[in-house]
Amino acid sequence: MRMLIMGPPGAGKGTQAGAVAESFGVPAISTGDIFRANVSQATPLGIVAKKFLDAGEYAPDDVTNNMVRDRISEPDAAVGFVLDGYPRTEQQVKELDEMIAFTGGRLDVVVCLTVEQDELVTRLLGRAAVEGRTDDTEEVIRRRQEVYCAQTEPLLDIYRRRGQLVEVAGLGDVIEVTERILVAVTAALAS
Ligand code: ADP
Repeated sequence: MRMLIMGPPGAGKGTQAGAVAESFGVPAISTGDIFRANVSQATPLGIVAKKFLDAGEYAPDDVTNNMVRDRISEPDAAVGFVLDGYPRTEQQVKELDEMIAFTGGRLDVVVCLTVEQDELVTRLLGRAAVEGRTDDTEEVIRRRQEVYCAQTEPLLDIYRRRGQLVEVAGLGDVIEVTERILVAVTAALAS
């Protein structure tokens, strides 16, 4: 199973990627988590990425692409993966196509979680209070949303045209949303 979970900041990609990956027996790979782990350990990658993350901007494509290529070439991802937070730019879509072609596999499905704007802001501010992520301030949240709308939302059309996009409502209990995703993915794979 090679699957992407897309959607705006606050849509619940990370939570759902974990649950869905577990049910398919593949790793969930979150670029945001990998970046944050590197930032907190002050690795060379983390030092480069920190200023972009803190500002709500995307890290440079080459940095992100190399990071994902390394991660999906690890043995546990040979059976597949659920990618959360990648691709986010057109250049990353192209790179991912090449990475998957190189392994001789194919991308099975792209899930987009849809959630209303007001709910997104409420969720992110709630998370800020609990987790204290440095990019969950009101100003940076606004910037992340702008960057998403400008650079990532248009990518959905690419996958829609390829017939790989499945849109799933992200509102409701976590378990309910996971169920919805599993039903939608199963239907998409059968068609
Ligand atoms: P969000 O909840 O905003 O979707 P993530 O945890 O997925 O946040 O990502 C946090 C930050 O990590 C992003 O704002 C960005 O700076 C960086 N990042 C994550 N994925 C990518 C990517 N594919 N390309 C560039 N930057 C990325």
